[in-house]
Amino acid sequence: MSARPRRDAPPAAAPPLRFADIRGQERPMRFLRRAWERKRLAHALLFTGPAGVGKLATARALALGLHCDVAPFEACGTCDTCRTIAAGTHPDVRIIAGPLPDRRDIAIEQVRDLQRELGFRAMSAHPKIGIVNDADLLTLQAQNALLKTLEEPGGDTVLILVAVNAAALAETILSRCQRVGFDPLPTADVVAILEAYGRSAADAHALAAYADGSPGQALALDPEFFGRRRREILSGLAAARRGGFKGLA
Ligand SMILES: [Zn+2]
Repeated sequence: MSARPRRDAPPAAAPPLRFADIRGQERPMRFLRRAWERKRLAHALLFTGPAGVGKLATARALALGLHCDVAPFEACGTCDTCRTIAAGTHPDVRIIAGPLPDRRDIAIEQVRDLQRELGFRAMSAHPKIGIVNDADLLTLQAQNALLKTLEEPGGDTVLILVAVNAAALAETILSRCQRVGFDPLPTADVVAILEAYGRSAADAHALAAYADGSPGQALALDPEFFGRRRREILSGLAAARRGGFKGLA
Protein backbone atom coordinates (compact mmCIF):
# COMPACT_ATOMS: atom_id res chain seq x y z
CA MET A 1 0.00 0.00 0.00
CA SER A 2 1.34 3.44 -0.80
CA ALA A 3 1.44 5.72 2.21
CA ARG A 4 0.64 9.29 1.26
CA PRO A 5 2.15 11.54 3.90
CA ARG A 6 -0.21 14.27 4.99
CA ARG A 7 1.37 17.65 4.38
CA ASP A 8 -0.83 19.72 6.65
CA ALA A 9 -0.89 17.26 9.53
CA PRO A 10 -2.30 18.67 12.77
CA PRO A 11 0.18 19.14 15.61
CA ALA A 12 1.16 15.73 16.89
CA ALA A 13 0.23 14.68 20.39
CA ALA A 14 3.17 14.14 22.68
CA PRO A 15 4.64 10.74 21.80
CA PRO A 16 4.14 8.05 24.43
CA LEU A 17 6.65 8.36 27.22
CA ARG A 18 5.75 5.91 29.97
CA PHE A 19 4.19 2.46 29.83
CA ALA A 20 0.92 4.07 30.93
CA ASP A 21 0.96 6.20 27.76
CA ILE A 22 1.23 3.18 25.44
CA ARG A 23 -2.00 1.70 24.19
CA GLY A 24 -2.78 -1.83 23.09
CA GLN A 25 0.53 -3.53 23.97
CA GLU A 26 -0.43 -4.93 27.36
CA ARG A 27 1.04 -8.38 26.64
CA PRO A 28 4.67 -7.35 26.03
CA MET A 29 4.41 -4.79 28.83
CA ARG A 30 3.18 -7.48 31.23
CA PHE A 31 6.06 -9.71 30.17
CA LEU A 32 8.61 -6.96 30.83
CA ARG A 33 7.06 -6.09 34.18
CA ARG A 34 7.17 -9.70 35.35
CA ALA A 35 10.77 -10.10 34.24
CA TRP A 36 11.70 -6.87 36.04
CA GLU A 37 9.85 -7.86 39.23
CA ARG A 38 11.69 -11.18 39.28
CA LYS A 39 14.98 -9.44 38.48
CA ARG A 40 15.20 -11.60 35.38
CA LEU A 41 15.19 -8.92 32.74
CA ALA A 42 17.71 -9.99 30.10
CA HIS A 43 20.68 -7.79 29.21
CA ALA A 44 19.79 -8.14 25.54
CA LEU A 45 16.20 -7.77 24.38
CA LEU A 46 14.77 -8.01 20.88
CA PHE A 47 11.44 -6.28 20.32
CA THR A 48 9.87 -7.62 17.12
CA GLY A 49 6.55 -7.04 15.39
CA PRO A 50 4.95 -4.95 12.64
CA ALA A 51 6.06 -1.36 12.02
CA GLY A 52 4.34 1.41 13.93
CA VAL A 53 2.77 -0.61 16.75
CA GLY A 54 4.77 0.79 19.69
CA LYS A 55 8.00 -1.24 19.87
CA LEU A 56 10.31 1.79 20.06
CA ALA A 57 7.93 3.60 22.43
CA THR A 58 8.02 0.55 24.71
CA ALA A 59 11.82 0.46 24.57
CA ARG A 60 11.95 4.12 25.61
CA ALA A 61 9.38 3.52 28.35
CA LEU A 62 11.53 0.68 29.67
CA ALA A 63 14.57 2.99 29.73
CA LEU A 64 12.57 5.48 31.79
CA GLY A 65 11.26 2.73 34.05
CA LEU A 66 14.73 1.35 34.76
CA HIS A 67 16.07 4.81 35.65
CA CYS A 68 13.23 6.68 37.36
CA ASP A 69 13.62 6.68 41.17
CA VAL A 70 10.26 8.33 41.77
CA ALA A 71 8.22 5.51 40.22
CA PRO A 72 10.43 2.49 39.45
CA PHE A 73 9.33 0.63 36.32
CA GLU A 74 6.20 2.76 35.80
CA ALA A 75 8.28 5.97 35.53
CA CYS A 76 6.87 9.29 36.67
CA GLY A 77 7.58 11.05 33.38
CA THR A 78 8.29 14.36 35.10
CA CYS A 79 11.46 14.02 37.21
CA ASP A 80 14.81 15.28 35.88
CA THR A 81 15.86 11.75 34.96
CA CYS A 82 12.68 11.04 32.99
CA ARG A 83 12.91 14.39 31.23
CA THR A 84 16.53 14.02 30.19
CA ILE A 85 15.89 10.51 28.87
CA ALA A 86 12.84 11.75 26.96
CA ALA A 87 14.91 14.61 25.55
CA GLY A 88 17.59 12.16 24.42
CA THR A 89 20.28 13.85 26.51
CA HIS A 90 20.74 11.31 29.32
CA PRO A 91 24.34 10.06 29.18
CA ASP A 92 23.41 6.52 30.24
CA VAL A 93 20.61 6.03 27.70
CA ARG A 94 21.75 6.15 24.07
CA ILE A 95 19.76 5.35 20.98
CA ILE A 96 20.43 4.61 17.33
CA ALA A 97 17.25 5.91 15.73
CA GLY A 98 17.91 4.25 12.37
CA PRO A 99 20.17 4.68 9.34
CA LEU A 100 21.93 8.03 8.91
CA PRO A 101 20.40 10.36 6.29
CA ASP A 102 20.98 9.08 2.74
CA ARG A 103 21.89 5.62 4.04
CA ARG A 104 19.79 2.50 3.71
CA ASP A 105 21.45 0.60 6.53
CA ILE A 106 22.89 1.16 9.98
CA ALA A 107 26.65 1.44 9.61
CA ILE A 108 29.30 -0.02 11.87
CA GLU A 109 30.39 3.53 12.82
CA GLN A 110 26.99 4.13 14.42
CA VAL A 111 27.36 0.98 16.51
CA ARG A 112 30.89 2.00 17.54
CA ASP A 113 29.62 5.46 18.57
CA LEU A 114 26.92 3.82 20.68
CA GLN A 115 29.45 1.49 22.29
CA ARG A 116 31.80 4.37 23.01
CA GLU A 117 29.01 6.39 24.64
CA LEU A 118 27.90 3.42 26.71
CA GLY A 119 31.51 2.63 27.60
CA PHE A 120 31.88 5.66 29.88
CA ARG A 121 31.41 5.16 33.58
CA ALA A 122 27.71 5.16 34.43
CA MET A 123 26.37 8.46 35.76
CA SER A 124 23.89 6.67 38.01
CA ALA A 125 23.42 3.36 39.80
CA HIS A 126 21.06 2.22 37.05
CA PRO A 127 21.94 0.11 34.03
CA LYS A 128 23.16 1.85 30.94
CA ILE A 129 20.74 1.38 28.09
CA GLY A 130 21.40 1.17 24.37
CA ILE A 131 18.46 1.11 21.99
CA VAL A 132 18.91 0.19 18.33
CA ASN A 133 15.84 1.04 16.30
CA ASP A 134 15.50 -0.58 12.85
CA ALA A 135 18.02 -3.20 14.01
CA ASP A 136 17.12 -5.31 10.97
CA LEU A 137 18.93 -2.65 8.93
CA LEU A 138 22.27 -3.22 10.69
CA THR A 139 24.96 -4.22 8.20
CA LEU A 140 26.59 -7.56 8.86
CA GLN A 141 29.74 -5.75 10.05
CA ALA A 142 27.62 -3.62 12.38
CA GLN A 143 25.96 -6.77 13.75
CA ASN A 144 29.37 -8.32 14.36
CA ALA A 145 30.50 -5.20 16.20
CA LEU A 146 27.34 -5.29 18.30
CA LEU A 147 28.10 -8.87 19.31
CA LYS A 148 30.95 -7.53 21.41
CA THR A 149 28.46 -5.74 23.66
CA LEU A 150 26.11 -8.74 23.71
CA GLU A 151 28.92 -11.02 24.78
CA GLU A 152 30.01 -8.94 27.78
CA PRO A 153 29.09 -11.22 30.65
CA GLY A 154 27.10 -9.66 33.46
CA GLY A 155 27.70 -6.13 32.23
CA ASP A 156 25.53 -3.33 33.53
CA THR A 157 24.20 -2.53 30.06
CA VAL A 158 20.77 -3.38 28.72
CA LEU A 159 20.66 -3.50 24.95
CA ILE A 160 17.26 -3.29 23.25
CA LEU A 161 17.08 -4.14 19.55
CA VAL A 162 13.89 -3.07 17.77
CA ALA A 163 13.14 -4.85 14.49
CA VAL A 164 10.28 -5.60 12.12
CA ASN A 165 12.12 -8.44 10.42
CA ALA A 166 14.05 -10.47 12.98
CA ALA A 167 15.13 -12.91 10.25
CA ALA A 168 17.50 -10.22 8.96
CA LEU A 169 19.58 -10.56 12.12
CA ALA A 170 22.43 -13.03 12.43
CA GLU A 171 21.79 -16.18 14.44
CA THR A 172 24.61 -15.18 16.79
CA ILE A 173 22.63 -12.04 17.68
CA LEU A 174 19.25 -13.76 17.89
CA SER A 175 20.52 -16.50 20.17
CA ARG A 176 21.73 -13.93 22.71
CA CYS A 177 18.51 -11.89 22.85
CA GLN A 178 15.36 -12.39 24.85
CA ARG A 179 12.63 -11.96 22.27
CA VAL A 180 9.53 -9.87 23.01
CA GLY A 181 6.79 -10.01 20.37
CA PHE A 182 4.43 -7.15 19.51
CA ASP A 183 1.12 -7.69 17.70
CA PRO A 184 -0.95 -5.36 15.53
CA LEU A 185 -3.39 -3.32 17.62
CA PRO A 186 -7.16 -3.81 17.70
CA THR A 187 -8.88 -1.25 15.44
CA ALA A 188 -10.49 0.48 18.43
CA ASP A 189 -7.04 1.22 19.86
CA VAL A 190 -5.78 2.53 16.51
CA VAL A 191 -8.83 4.84 16.31
CA ALA A 192 -8.27 6.11 19.86
CA ILE A 193 -4.59 6.83 19.16
CA LEU A 194 -5.41 8.67 15.93
CA GLU A 195 -7.97 10.79 17.76
CA ALA A 196 -5.35 11.57 20.42
CA TYR A 197 -3.16 12.81 17.55
CA GLY A 198 -5.87 15.22 16.48
CA ARG A 199 -7.62 13.27 13.71
CA SER A 200 -11.41 13.65 13.59
CA ALA A 201 -13.47 10.59 14.52
CA ALA A 202 -14.45 10.11 10.85
CA ASP A 203 -10.84 10.39 9.64
CA ALA A 204 -9.63 8.10 12.43
CA HIS A 205 -12.10 5.37 11.45
CA ALA A 206 -11.31 5.75 7.75
CA LEU A 207 -7.53 5.55 8.34
CA ALA A 208 -7.74 2.71 10.86
CA ALA A 209 -9.53 0.61 8.24
CA TYR A 210 -6.37 0.72 6.10
CA ALA A 211 -3.71 0.58 8.79
CA ASP A 212 -3.46 -3.16 9.52
CA GLY A 213 -3.48 -2.46 13.25
CA SER A 214 -0.55 -0.04 13.04
CA PRO A 215 -1.12 3.47 14.42
CA GLY A 216 2.28 4.51 13.04
CA GLN A 217 1.21 3.46 9.56
CA ALA A 218 -2.18 5.14 9.97
CA LEU A 219 -0.54 8.43 10.96
CA ALA A 220 1.45 8.37 7.71
CA LEU A 221 -1.70 8.05 5.59
CA ASP A 222 -3.62 10.93 4.05
CA PRO A 223 -7.03 11.06 5.78
CA GLU A 224 -8.71 12.89 2.90
CA PHE A 225 -7.69 10.28 0.35
CA PHE A 226 -8.67 7.34 2.52
CA GLY A 227 -11.85 9.00 3.77
CA ARG A 228 -12.95 9.51 0.14
CA ARG A 229 -11.96 5.97 -0.81
CA ARG A 230 -13.92 4.56 2.11
CA ARG A 231 -17.03 6.60 1.21
CA GLU A 232 -16.77 5.37 -2.39
CA ILE A 233 -16.60 1.76 -1.26
CA LEU A 234 -19.49 2.18 1.16
CA SER A 235 -21.68 3.89 -1.44
CA GLY A 236 -20.69 1.20 -3.96
CA LEU A 237 -21.81 -1.46 -1.50
CA ALA A 238 -25.06 0.39 -0.83
CA ALA A 239 -25.73 0.61 -4.58
CA ALA A 240 -24.94 -3.08 -4.98
CA ARG A 241 -27.29 -3.92 -2.14
CA ARG A 242 -30.05 -1.87 -3.79
CA GLY A 243 -29.41 -3.66 -7.07
CA GLY A 244 -29.57 -7.09 -5.42
CA PHE A 245 -25.80 -7.48 -5.98
CA LYS A 246 -26.40 -7.63 -9.74
CA GLY A 247 -24.29 -4.50 -9.98
CA LEU A 248 -21.24 -6.48 -8.86
CA ALA A 249 -21.55 -9.12 -11.58
ZN1 LIG B 1 10.80 9.92 36.74
